[in-house]
Amino acid sequence: MTKTNPVRSLSPGEIVFLGTGTSHGVPVIGCRCPVCTSEDTRNRRTRCSLAVGLPEGTVLIDTPPELRLQLVREGIADLRAVLYTHAHADHLFGLDDLRVIPQYLQAPVPVYCEASVQARIRKAFDYAFEEGAPAGGVPQLDFVTIDTEAFELLGAWVTPLRLKHGPWDVLGFRFGDAAYCTDVKQFPEETLQRLRNLDVLILDCLRHESHPTHLSVDEALAIVELLRPRRCYLTHLCHRLDHAAFSRQLPPGVQPAYDGLRIQTELMPHPDGVRKFSLPSVES
Ligand SMILES: [Zn+2]
Ligand SMILES: [Zn+2]
Ligand SMILES: [Zn+2]
Repeated sequence: MTKTNPVRSLSPGEIVFLGTGTSHGVPVIGCRCPVCTSEDTRNRRTRCSLAVGLPEGTVLIDTPPELRLQLVREGIADLRAVLYTHAHADHLFGLDDLRVIPQYLQAPVPVYCEASVQARIRKAFDYAFEEGAPAGGVPQLDFVTIDTEAFELLGAWVTPLRLKHGPWDVLGFRFGDAAYCTDVKQFPEETLQRLRNLDVLILDCLRHESHPTHLSVDEALAIVELLRPRRCYLTHLCHRLDHAAFSRQLPPGVQPAYDGLRIQTELMPHPDGVRKFSLPSVES
């Protein structure tokens, strides 16, 4: 860890890239390739996660294995909710680090995920659901089951996006004019319709070579060409992509993300009639 930011709340529309690496992380254990041994800190990629500032607080997307290091590094403590894209190990196995959050929230952590993700969490973290588990010793979670229907969260409007991640159905999320689509190989037509007029698209891009469950560079750029967001940040990057060299190969408006990158986008007010879940209130 090179620097630690002071703890502060995110402003509405502020997006922090907590992690931008593929499942192995970069550097890869034992690898001596030029990227893994690079001095450029933008080539040090923890597993994928994003923090998004909403009008009433910060939401975290996924809990990767380096979650604690990421939140300490970025000075983020006031999480009001967690969303899950899917339950793969690189997006899930930092969940135990959420144990501290109820101290700030004075309530269990609201977790928004599909039923299949909840089932995996209950299996993988079974100790959190045992009778008499000590508060503080285990993650305290309050599940909200979501599907692809839009819902209200912390004063914003969140649209879940169905993505095909090879054989797996996973979710991306749209907040206002920003969308997060990591771990995707194919976009169903109804999802493409929900990705029009984007300011920011955060998009899976594993490597130049084709892969069965992730977008390659050419495939990611074809999606950018189709959707034409104002800005695109590529994430879930592997150790075959050097940040500086890769940046120079990309068209205008497209760049690789890196851990600690912060961007600002607009959040639109949510429309009436959108599904609302009640969240615990927090004393400020
Ligand atoms: Zn992943
Ligand atoms: Zn390497
Ligand atoms: Zn995955």
